[in-house]
Amino acid sequence: MIALEDAQRTVLSQCPPLRPVSVALADAVGRVLAADAVADEDVPPFDNSAVDGYAVLSSDIASAPAELRVVDEVAAGAASSVRLEAGQAIRIMTGAPMPDGADAVVMIEHSEILGDEAVRLDPPGAPLAAGTAVRSAGSDVRVGDIVAPAGTVVTPAVVGTLASVNARRLDLYPAVRVAVMSTGDELVSDGGELGPGQIRESNLLMLEALLIDTGCQVMNFGVIRDDETAVEAALDDAVDGNDAIITSGGVSMGEYDVVKAVLGRIAEMDWMQIAIRPAKPFAFGRLGGVPIFGLPGNPVSALVSFELMARPCLRRMMGFSKLARTSVVAITDEAIVRRPDGKVHFDRVYGTFADDGRYHVRSVGAQGSHQLAATALADALAVVPDGDGLGAGDEVAVFLLRD
Ligand code: AMP
Ligand code: MG
Repeated sequence: MIALEDAQRTVLSQCPPLRPVSVALADAVGRVLAADAVADEDVPPFDNSAVDGYAVLSSDIASAPAELRVVDEVAAGAASSVRLEAGQAIRIMTGAPMPDGADAVVMIEHSEILGDEAVRLDPPGAPLAAGTAVRSAGSDVRVGDIVAPAGTVVTPAVVGTLASVNARRLDLYPAVRVAVMSTGDELVSDGGELGPGQIRESNLLMLEALLIDTGCQVMNFGVIRDDETAVEAALDDAVDGNDAIITSGGVSMGEYDVVKAVLGRIAEMDWMQIAIRPAKPFAFGRLGGVPIFGLPGNPVSALVSFELMARPCLRRMMGFSKLARTSVVAITDEAIVRRPDGKVHFDRVYGTFADDGRYHVRSVGAQGSHQLAATALADALAVVPDGDGLGAGDEVAVFLLRD
């Protein structure tokens, strides 16, 4: 058996980031920038009002209240052609450009109209400081600023920022296109009756969902029969037009592990026995340069294997620098019992942040690698080191399954 960290290092080193592509901003969310995004415009592009109110000369409001003559009105998207003189005010709306001469704005809540052309302004804290309620040009972003450096994950707020500087196309790491297939003559995926010895196929849709959640594009090849010709044909197909392949099943020691037989023949593979439970058997290799992740077929093993082995690689291919799930040191609210076996156990737990600010976890119960229903209740994987387990109240590192 090899240590998980060694297995991860071996596999990650063979999954370099994909070649960046130019993408329209509208399609950028969730992706990672491959180059700095630099502003070639100031934001805001001109001095403007932060409030609805009256643009004034601050020197006119050395003390409050002050009465001023209203000489113009300016809305957002317009501009006043009037130059403001002493004793005058211009009605102004939020976002409208500051009129020439004006250097501050009094908000409408501190005004009282005195007739058609006059206003009494009574802002608190007079004398009014120059710049009050004015958003100056470039106060958000200046020309030449790096608004998002290479490596930034394009969040909704980053999309908005990039729109504000008119960045219409970006160099981004593309989504990994992943072919996924499961193998096993016992698997039924079409809703039909179960024949003798048959079970429902459960990994394909689960893996598809995990891949979509990871930001990948999925091509689902369905269930492939335990037949070398069928498996080889599906793999040949999958290599074409995909950046990675994920197989489920057929990588352990069984006689019918045909994925193992075929991949051993046509690809350069590394068959691993990782010192973890579940998900000990795992295969990684390359077929025509395309990384292949051979996950075990037991549903819980497939999920844990995906989380620990495939997901970090797929994220690296998509340019992410954070590859692992978020890890926190949790408190066990009950004992987690296990026996020494030379493996690190990744027990499925559910958890909550409690009043002490700590994340508290309990086992979801059944920990068998076929018991997916219990795993479906999990919020996290608890890293239970080799030994006799943990007592109630102990600290344990956990990986949160949802960021
Ligand atoms: P394998 O990895 O092919 O040796 O399969 C290990 C166990 O997982 C067997 O009990 C299989 O029936 C089961 N299994 C394999 N693939 C799937 C699947 N896609 N859905 C549900 N169970 C599976
Ligand atoms: Mg099988």
